[in-house]
Amino acid sequence: MSLEAGKIAKIAKPGQFLHIKIDDMPFLRRPFSLHRMYNSNIDIFYHVVGKGTQALSQKESGAKLDILGPLGNGFEIKEIKNQVLIGGGIGIAPLFALAEALVNTSTQICVIIGAKTKERLLCEEDFAKLGCKVQVATEDGTGGKKGMATDILKDILLSLPPTETILYSSGPNKMLAEVSRVANVASVSCQISLEETICCGVGACLGCVVKTATGYKRVCSEGPVFKSDEILLGS
Ligand SMILES: Cc1cc2nc3c(=O)[nH]c(=O)nc-3n(C[C@H](O)[C@H](O)[C@H](O)COP(=O)(O)OP(=O)(O)OC[C@H]3O[C@@H](n4cnc5c(N)ncnc54)[C@H](O)[C@@H]3O)c2cc1C
Repeated sequence: MSLEAGKIAKIAKPGQFLHIKIDDMPFLRRPFSLHRMYNSNIDIFYHVVGKGTQALSQKESGAKLDILGPLGNGFEIKEIKNQVLIGGGIGIAPLFALAEALVNTSTQICVIIGAKTKERLLCEEDFAKLGCKVQVATEDGTGGKKGMATDILKDILLSLPPTETILYSSGPNKMLAEVSRVANVASVSCQISLEETICCGVGACLGCVVKTATGYKRVCSEGPVFKSDEILLGS
């Protein structure tokens, strides 16, 4: 969905999100990552999973939406030779904005995307058109390598010098936990974008806290992007 977002689009950074009020029903706003930013537009890319996204999908072209943003911290972009991006499912959406920002730096971008089936794979061609090296895994083997995106990651990280490599990831927590483990073993710096239920979106309600090595942190305001060695996923 393409949004005419005015000033928000001018200041937004990859990894940040928009908090969208979808209807006048007593809904919490819904968070969506920035998928693409250009001129004064922001594209979001979403799956319909419940009432809010269903209602959003029925908006007509030209409809007005109440949007808060850009919220959260975003990815910290570093100009390091090898940039590796790994995403699973709808977590691939924010990595496209990141890849677009990285193509302007003199780095090599490798994108690994994973999904349950070929039909659920997102943006494979878009990443390739940007000039990224794209590797694909599907759980049922209908697209790319059969298995998990993290299986491909292990091989790639082994072939790259850790001091010249950085890893960025977005996807389900189970995948992020494995990405963090692999990054730790390979001694590669890694940033992960967490998906938690976000309520206020601005750090006031503490509804989205996660446990970190230095105490609880709010995903909406101190995240959603964290250094992987900071987060204790699953605890
Ligand atoms: C920082 C962030 C970025 C996100 N970016 C995207 C994106 O780019 N594309 C995309 O498809 N989805 C994204 N999501 C997930 C998206 O916000 C939820 O799918 C959406 O809020 C579901 O709303 P619903 O009313 O349709 O579903 P509901 O009927 O409310 O719930 C369906 C599922 O969505 C989850 N959910 C419900 N409310 C929230 C909430 N306020 N915050 C987080 N999860 C919720 C529930 O755990 C449940 O599993 C993101 C979530 C976060 C936290």
